[in-house]
Amino acid sequence: MIDIRNIHRLKSISMDDEYLFPTIADVMNSCFGKTWDGYRNPFIPLNDGSGYVVWFPAMAKKRGDEFIPFNKKQGWLNRLSDDGTFLIEEHANDPRSSILEIEKLPRYVFGHYEDAAYRIGKVQIDKKDGYLFLGIFQIDLENSNFQQGHRIYRKINDKVDLRRYAGVGNFAYPDLTTLNTNETADDKLVDSLRHSSLLEQNDGFQYKEKPQKIRKPIIKDGVSLYLRNKQTAMNALAHAHFVCEIDNEHPTFIRKNSDKTYTEPHHLIPMAFQEQFDVSLDVEENIVSLCSNCHNEIHYGRDADSLIKFLYSERKAVLEKAGIVISMSDMLTMYGY
Ligand SMILES: [Zn+2]
Ligand SMILES: [Zn+2]
Repeated sequence: MIDIRNIHRLKSISMDDEYLFPTIADVMNSCFGKTWDGYRNPFIPLNDGSGYVVWFPAMAKKRGDEFIPFNKKQGWLNRLSDDGTFLIEEHANDPRSSILEIEKLPRYVFGHYEDAAYRIGKVQIDKKDGYLFLGIFQIDLENSNFQQGHRIYRKINDKVDLRRYAGVGNFAYPDLTTLNTNETADDKLVDSLRHSSLLEQNDGFQYKEKPQKIRKPIIKDGVSLYLRNKQTAMNALAHAHFVCEIDNEHPTFIRKNSDKTYTEPHHLIPMAFQEQFDVSLDVEENIVSLCSNCHNEIHYGRDADSLIKFLYSERKAVLEKAGIVISMSDMLTMYGY
């Protein structure tokens, strides 16, 4: 489970993720890019042109088969249907003749539970109150009875797309499964080239200098995985004449059964971000040739930002010819800087 302070790095959250937010401000800061503290009203229009509001209903407590208000004094008897598809907002003494226009907007709903642990299934968290994302809901005017203080909200979506609110720069972090699946695919590519003599590969390669279409992803571990093309990686190494692009004097060695020196391909813009581009990232222009040491440093080094900055300035123009436009700061963000 990800620390809720890092939720802005995710593409989306859904009810199934069962993140527990301690306060309303935590939700607004983690998911919607605010920097608030202290108490907030449980009904918050986003006022950012997105046309959504965020709602934090106090959910009724279940005692056996009975529901009792979250807070006796306030008297709200709000509850989620068993299948999670609709929400009932009920109050014995809140008759209305109509509702405000703003109340008709779709709402991101984070239910306030007194005993959140009871709501989050197998994941055991300290028993305390907190807010759980329940989905995107909208008022069902037909089935609500305003005069009797009884309003029904229908679920219209399971997920909230966080990229529009809290993306870091112009890019949001892929979810953890996407990151892990892509890391495995990167390792596989390096490994398959490791076992190749590259004997057939000519030295030198001309960039195509035009955007390439994204190839259809496969579904792996439930996420879209964009496959790496081995020949494309070999072309990229050939373009660099099989030396390290950080410094062509970095030590390396001759490949087995080969006349080529050993370097490794690295996708400068990680493939895990493919979904956020409309052209392929698996192109020679986006693949750099690195010695083993630099390749490890760019992934695992504390000061890898200096390598990234250098490679960015070397590649910016050719990336743009391949239709890949990115700022230095967005690229650094992708690497966690
Ligand atoms: Zn790499
Ligand atoms: Zn190097």
